[in-house]
Amino acid sequence: MWTYLNGDFVKKEEVKISPFDRGFLFGDGVYEVIPSYGRNFFLYDDHLERLKRSLSAINIDPLDNLDNLKTLLEELYERNEFDNQSMYIQVTRGVDVERSHKSSSKLKPTLFISSSELNINPYRLNPEKKGLIVGLDTDIRWKRCDIKAITLLPNIIPYHDNYSSDLDETLLHDNNLINEGTSSNVFFVFGDQIVTPPKNQNILQGVTRNYLLSRLSGKGFSVLEKKVSIEDLNKVDEVWMTSSTKEIQPVHNIEDLFLSKRTHQESLWHKALKVVESDLEVYS
Ligand code: PMP
Repeated sequence: MWTYLNGDFVKKEEVKISPFDRGFLFGDGVYEVIPSYGRNFFLYDDHLERLKRSLSAINIDPLDNLDNLKTLLEELYERNEFDNQSMYIQVTRGVDVERSHKSSSKLKPTLFISSSELNINPYRLNPEKKGLIVGLDTDIRWKRCDIKAITLLPNIIPYHDNYSSDLDETLLHDNNLINEGTSSNVFFVFGDQIVTPPKNQNILQGVTRNYLLSRLSGKGFSVLEKKVSIEDLNKVDEVWMTSSTKEIQPVHNIEDLFLSKRTHQESLWHKALKVVESDLEVYS
């Protein structure tokens, strides 16, 4: 497998970075994940725009080579062997001369890209597969979750205590309101009404989330951005998690709340997934 680091394509086993990179010392950087179906980078422009937004939010100057990012991704895609790949792009403020919160003024940002095999959403292959097992935890993240920062400790901790080894995702809540998962956005279905928490600084504006909102409302589904409280979970008929690598996946249970009332033929998640699937076919 190949990676890309600051101008060179380097074998995964050989790529090296200085510990004085501010990404290593401070988590001072942002990232993006773009799914590639065949040679097509799905919703590429939306991902690029979000990467630029994240960079600008933490005052890293846009890199010159972001304009030819697609060419770099294409080359990496060709070098790595998988049909479908998940492209990971990370930009940090760069390698500094010493560890200091205030960086030197003339740093050159670090651009690192890797790719891994993108496993096709298992629920597309088998819609009857048992849904995700989801936990519920307090959201202890910072107040700018709209920035796709590499600093992900609170998103990782829920998977590393003794009780959570079988969890597929964890829903994060704050002030009694559900924000999102640790690595996905969330959709709730009440009857025929599809609801997802509104855009604000408590959630990442998922590219998949935004695409689904507009695509599903265009198809005549009733979709709404609205706050959802923990108590609302008692009335919910379906819950879905969405991300660039998950696409749409149904939830089986959130802790001891089980969501198996609807079969996949009755469910809206499966109808929504069919819409996504038809787009992916057109796209590839
Ligand atoms: N929220 C969080 C916290 C995430 O890490 C992700 C995945 N990057 C998402 C939502 C989903 O975003 P996207 O649809 O752009 O992959």
